[in-house]
Amino acid sequence: MTREDYIKNAAEQFETLLREQLARTDQMLQDCGAKDYASLPVITVGLIGGDGIGPIIMDQAKRVLSVLLKDEISGGRVVLKEIDGLTIENRLALGKTVPEDVLEAIKSCDVILKGPTTTPKGGTMESANVTLRRELDLYANVRPVSVPEEGIDWMFYRENTEGEYVLGSRGIEVPGCLSIDFKVTTEPGTRRIARAAFEYAKQNGKTSVSIVTKANIMKKTDGNFTRICHEVAADYPGIHTEDWYIDIMTANLVNPAIRNQFQVFVLPNLYGDIITDEAAEIQGGVGTAGSANIGDRYAMFEAIHGSAPRMVEEGLADYANPSSIFKAAEMLLRHIGLIEKADRLASALTLCGETEKKVVVTGTRDGATCQEFADYVIEKL
Ligand code: NAD
Repeated sequence: MTREDYIKNAAEQFETLLREQLARTDQMLQDCGAKDYASLPVITVGLIGGDGIGPIIMDQAKRVLSVLLKDEISGGRVVLKEIDGLTIENRLALGKTVPEDVLEAIKSCDVILKGPTTTPKGGTMESANVTLRRELDLYANVRPVSVPEEGIDWMFYRENTEGEYVLGSRGIEVPGCLSIDFKVTTEPGTRRIARAAFEYAKQNGKTSVSIVTKANIMKKTDGNFTRICHEVAADYPGIHTEDWYIDIMTANLVNPAIRNQFQVFVLPNLYGDIITDEAAEIQGGVGTAGSANIGDRYAMFEAIHGSAPRMVEEGLADYANPSSIFKAAEMLLRHIGLIEKADRLASALTLCGETEKKVVVTGTRDGATCQEFADYVIEKL
């Protein structure tokens, strides 16, 4: 191909991308607001085992939910529905990231608790999470991080469907010369993540929201993200809003002198991806954090670690720590309005994992098993 051919193809590809993204913004503007769980006669909670240590930690999460929600389940208000087929074996056999029947089963639920899923190295299969975030329009990735002894109580609202990710595999390359990837920030996409962050702050008595971007460099995408967040902030006069650049915020989080002053963060996708792992590490590692992917019609809750294939190979799967998926279950209960149940689970997790610590999971044979730790949590519920 000549240089002119590359330019012509790239211009055509860019037009396609622009039209697709404009259609997506039109769709977002037609969406009709968040589901009101309180008004649902039945809330269906989908349970997905996933791969590797996933089914082991999910079996224990199901036990915990069954105990906590005993009355709601027997009264028909909550249904726990197990969804099979989101396994790497089935996905590879069918050549589908999320097989159609599995997606249909997921869409028949209101909320999902999901074990980690393996993403094959190489090949073309994308991560099941990326597919599910797109298919279910789960635009807010929400991660709490707390270190009580330091007064750290952070809540991250990471935009989950835009930024560098949405067009990450559709860049342009002129071999031997250059490559260009695309980043997209839409007006309604930013407005809805900002609204979610400020609503969380308002409903939870938080007084400060930090907008984190690189708007000094990415003037269009991050510049507009910052502007729109400030416009949304105007509806929340009691909340102090400030904007920060991602580089200095990354440093702030490892500065013990100031880090406990931050409360709620709202960030574009890539910065949120990176900084939430940094924050989880400050809390005690990725095994200690839960994560939520929230949209208006569906929400999916998970541990933030993966399927830990090495633990399975070494015969250590039964020693996996279920704390992270239990925290995700707590977030799920809070999201569907079962606040008292969420508080009970949160207190049991603090007691078992942080203060009393009579049963400790280490991830090795010298620690307790996943089931033994779940027994301990259930005893304290
Ligand atoms: P990983 O989080 O699965 O495991 C890394 C290491 O962390 C493990 O070897 C283990 O030592 C430790 N660990 C993780 N979870 C633990 C637990 N509950 N208890 C005790 N120790 C634990 O990361 P990885 O090995 O990079 O990824 C494995 C697979 O998981 C990959 O295919 C990856 O794509 C996938 N993944 C899925 C999700 C998801 O579904 N949400 C998230 C991250 C990674």
